[in-house]
Amino acid sequence: MKNCWSDREAEAIVARYAARNVGRDLALRVYTTRLLGSEPRLVLHGGGNTSVKTRLTDILGDELDVLCVKGSGWDMGKIEPEGLPAVRLDPLRRLIGLDALTDEDMVNVQRCNLLDSTAPNPSVETLLHAFLPHKFIDHTHANAVLSLTDQPNGAELCREVYDTRVAFVPYIMPGFALAKKASEIQRAHPSVEGMVLLKHGIFSFGDTAKEAYDRMIALVALAELRLAKGRRTGFVPAGLPTAPATQAEIAPILRGLVASVEDRAEGLYRRQIMEFRTGARILAFVNGADAARYAQAGVATPDHVIRTKPKPLFPPAPTAGEMTQFAAAAQASVAAYIADYRAYFERNNRRQATPKKPLDPMPRVILVPGLGLFGLGKSAKDARIAADVAEAAIEVITDAESIGRFESVSEADLFDIEYWSLEQAKLGKDAEKPLARHVAVITGGAGGIGAATAAAFAREGAEVAILDRDADAARERNDAIGGLVVACDVTDPASVKAAFDRVCDTFGGVDIVVSNAGAAWTGRIGEVDDKVLRESFELNFFSHQTVAKNAVGIMRAQGTGGVLLFNVTKQAVNPGPDFGPYGLPKAATLSLLRQYAVDYGRDGICVNGINADRVRSGLLTDDMIKSRSTARGLSESDYMSGNLLGREVKAKDVAQAFVALALQRKTTGAILTVDGGNIAAALR
Ligand code: ZN
Repeated sequence: MKNCWSDREAEAIVARYAARNVGRDLALRVYTTRLLGSEPRLVLHGGGNTSVKTRLTDILGDELDVLCVKGSGWDMGKIEPEGLPAVRLDPLRRLIGLDALTDEDMVNVQRCNLLDSTAPNPSVETLLHAFLPHKFIDHTHANAVLSLTDQPNGAELCREVYDTRVAFVPYIMPGFALAKKASEIQRAHPSVEGMVLLKHGIFSFGDTAKEAYDRMIALVALAELRLAKGRRTGFVPAGLPTAPATQAEIAPILRGLVASVEDRAEGLYRRQIMEFRTGARILAFVNGADAARYAQAGVATPDHVIRTKPKPLFPPAPTAGEMTQFAAAAQASVAAYIADYRAYFERNNRRQATPKKPLDPMPRVILVPGLGLFGLGKSAKDARIAADVAEAAIEVITDAESIGRFESVSEADLFDIEYWSLEQAKLGKDAEKPLARHVAVITGGAGGIGAATAAAFAREGAEVAILDRDADAARERNDAIGGLVVACDVTDPASVKAAFDRVCDTFGGVDIVVSNAGAAWTGRIGEVDDKVLRESFELNFFSHQTVAKNAVGIMRAQGTGGVLLFNVTKQAVNPGPDFGPYGLPKAATLSLLRQYAVDYGRDGICVNGINADRVRSGLLTDDMIKSRSTARGLSESDYMSGNLLGREVKAKDVAQAFVALALQRKTTGAILTVDGGNIAAALR
């Protein structure tokens, strides 16, 4: 573990915050908190916290002792002074005299003593920081320390490594009881540099920010040194298929199986987003002959449970070309997983004074022999966090098994953390947006309508994949929404297949496709070159077929319905002069969407389209607008709003119509016009 302290950086941060009236203590606390938080082997997604005891002046000018402690919801790697809210220290310290304190009372006292009433909730480990005497306290869930302590003889191993440099605290769930116990143990060993909380993590203490940080790094380095000694060779591999299937093939099957059915008749599912990871370490782990034991033996540190559940799903290895067999085997794995989770809930809920409500029983991590792992969650962000935590667990367990045998906290302890209201609060309870948990693919994403559509779907909560021949242009145009951008030539079937595979790797599957890419070719139909007509058919008809074919393949593998939307055009029903080369393939695309509606209704796939007309950032260039309005003797704006409503149609209007169609579950084979009203182009 590398010590990243720099005097120059520390002083620079002190100077920078001094200008904002932030004292030296808090500025340095921010600095080393960031150092710790930037190292994933020390701290991962909320697993760790820091504090400093300092003096502040309140609004009346009175100086008081405060504890500035990490606030819930802040990322240590990017912390600011506001992320370390100040709490009056004396009232916190006096709590140590109580025999017991409920979680609700603890949170209430902490909040009541904040200097800023709008500050975030102080960490669940606040009292532990308050009860210890040291000025600077650092706490991490360092992987190397966990590999040592997560062993049947973890306490012995830690003693061997640390001797009397640290004190040892047996596993107790965070909160008042742990804070009291830690304080009692520290008073019995007043000169220690820190504490190992068995099967949980490590604390280091210091008079200065540098001392606490230096000690944390040194203590973790000692654990790493021990792990490097006397290692056995890696995991013994299991016999696996010689030709494994790809992750893109199996992801939609798994994603369908781990979606909770809310109402099958209504086509309502609670889907999950899945992120794929692989690499040498992950493969060695999932391919191990003994993986069923060590991979399902519990979490590396208890707070991981809210991200990964107590166990991962562990389906059988998939063989290339045998997807039907894999689907059946995976379905059995998921059914067994759900039954196992429900039994775990029942067993542990029985001993609760106040019964808990079961959380959803679906896995958050899937380990696939021969391939790698998937992290799962309600959003791409949550899926990434689950994958990060799973990777950390793999490192901890691999190292633990290399010197002994991995052992987690007991099932009962795990349940107490998973169902602890203060841990669940970290996940947030905000209402979900209408298209949350959905993956939307938009082709032609560098164009005006494509980009507006991508933005509209992102606003409604969808995970967005933007396909375009020009990936750089698509990236630039869609910079604000930060979706996945994939280079894709929709007229090349191999390129389309590769793009959909990429979407499945990134999000696990596809729920909504907006087949939007298109371009206009013109020419008087009796004179136009066949080559022009065929080119237009490639893009304006066959590419829609290729995109739709890939989409329904994935949607059927998921088995949770889907939405297929096409950008048709008013030309398909209301041809304009010389627009044959454009209108003819689009008319075929209109038939195509109806055919998909007919053939895939039984799979719950809604297939609809938009007929838009006269959209400035659509296919109409500024030059075309100029020449057409001049030809009609109209101003540009009169020309653009020359429809029944007298309102110009914009890309965002088309985008909104696509979103509206995506939300319909009982409409298929329909065309929605977005043209401001044009009776000649009306369908019915
Ligand atoms: Zn902790």
